[in-house]
Amino acid sequence: MKKDWLQIRLLRRWLANSAQAVCAPRIFGLLLIALIALGSLSCRPKVEQVNDQPLPDEPAPGGNLRIYALDVGQGDGLLIISPQGKTVLIDAGPTEAGDEVVAALRAHGVKQIDLMVATHPHADHIGGMKKVFDTFRVRKFLDSGQTYGTATYEKLLREIQDNKTPYIKAVRGQSIEIEPDVKFDVYGPPTPLFSNSDIGTDRSVQNANSIVLRLSYGSFAMLFMGDAEFETEARMMTAGANLRANVLKVGHHGSRHATSGKFLTAVAPQFSIISVGENNDYGHPAQLTMDRLKKASIKTLRTDLSGEIEIFSDGKTFDARPSRKATLAQTWAGRQPVRNELTVNP
Ligand SMILES: [Zn+2]
Repeated sequence: MKKDWLQIRLLRRWLANSAQAVCAPRIFGLLLIALIALGSLSCRPKVEQVNDQPLPDEPAPGGNLRIYALDVGQGDGLLIISPQGKTVLIDAGPTEAGDEVVAALRAHGVKQIDLMVATHPHADHIGGMKKVFDTFRVRKFLDSGQTYGTATYEKLLREIQDNKTPYIKAVRGQSIEIEPDVKFDVYGPPTPLFSNSDIGTDRSVQNANSIVLRLSYGSFAMLFMGDAEFETEARMMTAGANLRANVLKVGHHGSRHATSGKFLTAVAPQFSIISVGENNDYGHPAQLTMDRLKKASIKTLRTDLSGEIEIFSDGKTFDARPSRKATLAQTWAGRQPVRNELTVNP
C-alpha cells in the first residue's frame, strides 16, 4: 500500500515537471494574452497535490505496533495490533479466561481477528478461543497441525469448520505478511514434527511442536515461543534461523526445560515476557529459568506479578508498560512445583 502511494506520488511529480517543461517555450508567446485574458491560467496539468503534504487516504507513516500479553492466568494469550490496525491473537488462554480475553480485546478496540494462532493444542492456549469465535469474526486460523484427541481441540476444529475460517497449517519457512512493514516468520514446528523418540517419553511433543513465530516491524523484532523447550530451541539454532529479537516471549511459562543460556545468547533479547498464572502448581516460572534470564541481564516482566503487559514499538525503539509494578526480588523469584509438570500440564 505504502509502496503504491509512493509510486503514485512520484508519477504525479513527474507529470507536473513534464508539463512545465512542455509549456516553457510557449510561455513567452502566450504570456501577455494569457495574463490579460485568463489572469491566473496555469500550464500545469490538473494535479491535486504534488507537495509533501500527506494525501488524504495515505496511511500515517510509522505508527506504533502494539503487543499485549493478556492476563489470562495460567496460559498464554497475546494480542498484536499493527500500526494500520490489523489484529493477531496468539493463543487465548484457558477456557475460564474466555470472557476476560473477549473483554480485553474489546477494550483495545478490536473489531475482528485477522489472524488467530493456536501455538499448540493444549487447553491453556486454546480454551478461551470458543468465546473469541462467538464474539468476533476470525478471518484466518494458523494451527500447528498436530493430532490431539481432546474434546477442547476437537470442538475448536469444529468451530473453525462451522465458521468457514480459512485454516493454515504452520510450516517452518513460511512468512506471513500482516501489512507491508509487519510480518511473521514461522520458525516452528519442524517438518517432520518431533516425536517422543526425538525428545524422550517424559516430555510433551505438543509443546516441542509449538508454532514459533518471529514478528518484525522495521528493526524491531519479537520472538513468540509458545510452549517450545530446549529441543525446539536447539533445532532452530542448528537450522541457522535469524533468532535475534528485542523481546522474547519466554517458552512454556518459564519452565525449567526451556530457555537455555545458549538460546538466550543467540536471541540476545533486551527484554522478556513470561505469561504465567499466579496460582499454578507446576513451578512456573522455574528458579533455574529466572536465574538464566537474570544472568543474561534481560529485563523481565511476568503476567502473574504485573497483570497485562503492553509493548509498543515505532519500528526502531520499543518500550513496555506493566499494569502493576513488581519488585526485582519478586521478579527473579521462581516458584516451587507442587505437582508433576508433565502429568498435569504436559
Ligand atoms: Zn502452556
